[in-house]
Amino acid sequence: MEQSELTAIGKKDAKSDLIHLKPPVDPSTQAYKQLLDGPFWHKIPAYRDVSEEQFLDHQWQARNSITKPAKLLAALQAIVPQDFYQDVAEGFRHSPMSVRVSPYLLSLINWENPYNDPLRLQFIPIGSRLLPDHPKLKFDSLAEQADAPVPGLTHRYKDKALFLVLDTCPVYCRFCTRSYAVGINTDAIEKISLKAREERWDTVFRYISERPELEDIVVSGGDTYQLKARQIELIGQSLLRLDNIRRIRFATKGPAVMPQKILSDTEWLDALTSVVELGRKLHKEVALHTHFNHPSEITAITKRAMDALFERGITVRNQSVLQRKVNDHIETMQLLVKRLGYCNVHPYYVYMHDLVKGVEDLRTTLQTGLDIEKNVRGITAGFNTPTFVVDTLGGGGKRAIHSYDHYDCDTGISVYTAPAVKPDYFMYFDPIDLLPAEAQERWQHPDEQRRMVEAALAAAKQHQANTARASTVRSDSA
Ligand SMILES: *Cc1c(COP(=O)(O)O)cnc(C)c1O
Ligand code: SF4
Repeated sequence: MEQSELTAIGKKDAKSDLIHLKPPVDPSTQAYKQLLDGPFWHKIPAYRDVSEEQFLDHQWQARNSITKPAKLLAALQAIVPQDFYQDVAEGFRHSPMSVRVSPYLLSLINWENPYNDPLRLQFIPIGSRLLPDHPKLKFDSLAEQADAPVPGLTHRYKDKALFLVLDTCPVYCRFCTRSYAVGINTDAIEKISLKAREERWDTVFRYISERPELEDIVVSGGDTYQLKARQIELIGQSLLRLDNIRRIRFATKGPAVMPQKILSDTEWLDALTSVVELGRKLHKEVALHTHFNHPSEITAITKRAMDALFERGITVRNQSVLQRKVNDHIETMQLLVKRLGYCNVHPYYVYMHDLVKGVEDLRTTLQTGLDIEKNVRGITAGFNTPTFVVDTLGGGGKRAIHSYDHYDCDTGISVYTAPAVKPDYFMYFDPIDLLPAEAQERWQHPDEQRRMVEAALAAAKQHQANTARASTVRSDSA
């Protein structure tokens, strides 16, 4: 809605003879409806002459994506200083993740302040801002490989499984949890391969068909945006045909980084729609899960794309990652949640950032998550209010962040139990640079690390013993 219309409504309310119990609405609280529109890409030197038609073409977006520092320089030219390019080149050299940024994303970055821009932070590594990894970091820190009975299928929870159909994405995020597989090998890392191969998928379908308890498959990667239309249909139909399957979700970051595809790749959208419709006929749910992290990732183009999905009756849910300097502000997260709801996207989860190589600067503390959650719950419909979760280390799965058995914000250690998943204790670790100086010092010594972990475990057990008296919970199935 235009600013002038908003003011008009305010005036009408003031003149009306109704008695209002609440003060008139401050127009700034309506910012979630004001979406960036017009040829915003013209401020990037390389896109000065790019027409709207070209910018809305997903193939043009894919062809012109930035994968090397030299291409970044060619696109931005003199709008950022020379030493910034050297810093980026240094970042590329140390990054465990490949780099790929769409022209759309590049145009949304504020290049007057690239060091602090929330989108630059997520997609373009910078050498001078890297922090050492946490000592508890392992390459596949969620142990997705250990819970994989066949390559590319993680069956951790009882009734749902995660199917990694391929290992490429329309863009690459610095912070990808699956940097162990996703993207091409970088100077810093060699990856395991999960190519889009139909023989591998057949093995996955066979495994799923032999597990009657499996009802719900997350089709992910990599990113399902990268699947061809006929592959979307093949995977969707193969899964929906299995009697035990009740729900599938296609996971893609696409809408957040290249909404153009939904508006210009009719074949892909028709394929997705046909799977959704087949599911509906079979009384099975098919949804799209996407990944917006910051309100400026949502533009007027995004709104048009989300409207196109909504018109086709496609449910879209969002999973965000809580990141330092990206969305660790109450107002930013509130704006994101309201803006997603405005576009008919349900905010589903906000994740604590996993322990991933090379992105310690993006992680924040559990306490930050707790504080933001408290300020988000209540601003909108409960079904549009994300659950804040932490995917615990070692494969305990996702836990609501408030449900810890112990949290010490000095050592940064939190302890969770996941009785319906695995009988063990699972931990999460706050980034060390945000701890008090004394605790930072303790983390330098392996003996002290062990002591802190043991103390946290003992405290979690004590907490459980203390609270057991107050609960009437009985478990018959030991
Ligand atoms: C997240 C995840 C799922 C899906 O979990 P939901 O809480 O239903 O979104 C399934 N399997 C694995 C291994 C996961 O990490
Ligand atoms: S789109 Fe998803 S899978 Fe791909 S790099 Fe980003 S976080 Fe990883």
